[in-house]
Amino acid sequence: MADTQADSLAPEAEARWRLVETAWNLGVPSRVLEVKTDIEVGELFVTTDATRRVSIVGVRDALNGYQKGACFYCNQPIIIGRGESLDVDVDHFFPRRLDQAESFGGVNIDGVWNLVLACTECNRGPGGKFDLIPHIEYLERLNLRNNWLIDSHHPLRETLIAQTGATEQKRASFLQQCDQLAIDAIPSRWRPASSSVANSLL
Ligand SMILES: [Zn+2]
Repeated sequence: MADTQADSLAPEAEARWRLVETAWNLGVPSRVLEVKTDIEVGELFVTTDATRRVSIVGVRDALNGYQKGACFYCNQPIIIGRGESLDVDVDHFFPRRLDQAESFGGVNIDGVWNLVLACTECNRGPGGKFDLIPHIEYLERLNLRNNWLIDSHHPLRETLIAQTGATEQKRASFLQQCDQLAIDAIPSRWRPASSSVANSLL
């Protein structure tokens, strides 16, 4: 387990550095760097104008700092190797299907605020999450994760603030609002069968 953590945290530190370095190379302060997500490719990128796109890092590496090699939902170890993904999925906390719900319009569903790392079992195994809405205690966990990245001055800080709000209060109510809209559109909550949420909460 310790080795797994060490192996996956080195790319995470590298990912953080790449974000800062990208801002420098573009000649902008990292606070104005608006980081976008390419879900299909699994990477974070920025656009400097309408046509120029700069890849930064893999989504998995960037998000693993908080999760420390564990599934967001069941806390089982997930392996994040360099340039490969063995048993880890980038999961949309609020499922991507909501993009089609009119009420959810305007919410950036692919934004890093809504992305977590999950084991394949939780994401799409038998009894997996798929398009369901996570149980309410995970909403608090997502809020803690986003606040942690913001408070620790992670290079994704400004992107998260732009996506979710400038204060803890605004961010909490943003997530609650999303949860309400989500459960109205897809009235079914999910939690992993095998987890103890109390133990898995950081
Ligand atoms: Zn899991």
